[in-house]
Amino acid sequence: MPVSQPNVASVTEVGPVVVGAGVCGLAVAGELAERGLAPLVIERRGGAGRETSTRNSGVIHAGLYYPRGSAKARLCVRGNRLLYAFCQRAGVEHRRLGKLVVATSIEQVSELEQLADRARDNGAATLELVDGAVARRLEPRVRAEAALVSASTGVVDAHELVKALEARARHAGAEVCYRCVLIAAEPAGDGWLLTLRMPDGQLEALVTPLVVNAAGLDADRVARQLGEARWQLHWCRGDYFAAPRSAAAGVSRLIYPLPSRHGLGVHATLDLGGRLLLGPDTTYIAREPEQPDVDAAKAASFRAAGARYLPHLADVELSPDSWGIRPKLQASGEPVADFVIEPGRASLHLVGIESPGLTASLAIAEEVGGRLSSSGLI
Ligand SMILES: Cc1cc2nc3c(=O)[nH]c(=O)nc-3n(C[C@H](O)[C@H](O)[C@H](O)COP(=O)(O)OP(=O)(O)OC[C@H]3O[C@@H](n4cnc5c(N)ncnc54)[C@H](O)[C@@H]3O)c2cc1C
Repeated sequence: MPVSQPNVASVTEVGPVVVGAGVCGLAVAGELAERGLAPLVIERRGGAGRETSTRNSGVIHAGLYYPRGSAKARLCVRGNRLLYAFCQRAGVEHRRLGKLVVATSIEQVSELEQLADRARDNGAATLELVDGAVARRLEPRVRAEAALVSASTGVVDAHELVKALEARARHAGAEVCYRCVLIAAEPAGDGWLLTLRMPDGQLEALVTPLVVNAAGLDADRVARQLGEARWQLHWCRGDYFAAPRSAAAGVSRLIYPLPSRHGLGVHATLDLGGRLLLGPDTTYIAREPEQPDVDAAKAASFRAAGARYLPHLADVELSPDSWGIRPKLQASGEPVADFVIEPGRASLHLVGIESPGLTASLAIAEEVGGRLSSSGLI
């Protein structure tokens, strides 16, 4: 095992290192800590969940969309149950609002029926396929020929969730280091010698038996640092617009169109403050850390998308709101890829954790714990 590195003052031996303090990294740290290990989470930002984990729709998905037998389907369905239970226990604000996926034309009804079949195959709980009249009784403002009603879909305050996952991990014995960037890794014995840039700008070296890569948008780069060049992520941005308060009146569930090629379609969500948000759209972008604000000129296309299933939105003024970036394994036009949860040398990699990664985070952590344990790494 190397004992020193150029420009590094000293080498410290630590337990497992988790790269990334998003929902997945924090959930994994909690899982490892509760198994009696003392993980160290390193996070380049000044706090937890500053990237994708708080830049999303905050929807607790039911598992409707994903191919049968996929990790996305299995971990979403399991994660949905684990997440509701965790939010209840930890006092994280959430609401089981329910959701309607709507067919807005007769031609779309058979597509909706196929979605309902897939959702049932996936084991998504409490589903009902209803006709347009029933859909309008449930949601009087909606335009629908038919709808798939999912009662187990809900919303969660993602900021509170991140805080609660961090608190749980720390309470169980994990440490979290902010403004701490993984710079380089080299094999050391059976584990790794990691070089980190610390908050004061100094380099520090750690020796660890195991690295869990939960680096979100840069998980492919971190994997390469750990000797795995198998994955290439493509960034796909999604923007949101907010509707005025009056437009949310009379809407009590989340309303989704049928899914589109790269995403779930511009949908209408209600946040816990009762705001109605439209989005996200899907735009593949260059990998630039600095991103522009939401372009106000796109309001008309969001209004048109929303008005297809909530006609009253045709007349409302929308304001640019937030944006987030999906770490996609598939380039534009390629078939949708599954979550990657794969071992490497003294490491485990979470790559391509796009939606439903927020919902699935606790199930992903459970799976990581199980895999590491069965492979003798913990
Ligand atoms: C527009 C949009 C809408 C979405 N809507 C939903 C939804 O409604 N429901 C749902 O279930 N999912 C949704 N998702 C998906 C969900 O947000 C993500 O799957 C989830 O947040 C991924 O969490 P994570 O911990 O893997 O990654 P992240 O939150 O990205 O965390 C990774 C962390 O690693 C850190 N990091 C990276 N490289 C390094 C390094 N070298 N050194 C130190 N730290 C590093 C980053 O700073 C970051 O904080 C959505 C995503 C987007 C983009």
